[in-house]
Amino acid sequence: MAIRSVETSGPAETESLGAELAGILDDGDLVLVLGELGSGKTTLVRGAARALGVSDPVTSPTFSIGHRYAGGTVTVSHLDLYRLASLEREDPELLADYLGPGRIAFVEWPEQGSAELAGARMRVTLSHGGGDRRRIDVDELAELAGGGGSS
Ligand code: ADP
Ligand code: MG
Repeated sequence: MAIRSVETSGPAETESLGAELAGILDDGDLVLVLGELGSGKTTLVRGAARALGVSDPVTSPTFSIGHRYAGGTVTVSHLDLYRLASLEREDPELLADYLGPGRIAFVEWPEQGSAELAGARMRVTLSHGGGDRRRIDVDELAELAGGGGSS
């Protein structure tokens, strides 16, 4: 179900949307973040992490598949699975440290992920709109959330 569909005109607006989405997330939630390089995935996660109480700089994971940040009440996990194809063969349990109770996780390039990503609460899709404009669609994956809501 599409819950938000907006166009932002700069990174600050995309961060604000991330912060807004953070407000409706719960402990244990997983958010899939899709879009081309430079579409603003990490920018959106940065805004969400801030709103969840993360004060450390939120940067793109480069030497590992993810970062974990201490937030106000949960750990905020930020994964980038762009290069997972090779990593997964090394350790199929790789994602477990980032997901589940006590954490709220954001995953860029979830297409490369495993079945562990099947229980996502929300999917955010970003696309370039020319210049600094970005189209951002937010879907709540209610049927997968396991929260007992409407089907
Ligand atoms: P991704 O993680 O999708 O590769 P990033 O968030 O790392 O993208 O980078 C997005 C880049 O685009 C940043 O340099 C950011 O400043 C710029 N940018 C320009 N306009 C926007 C916008 N409306 N929303 C998000 N980022 C934007
Ligand atoms: Mg990124």
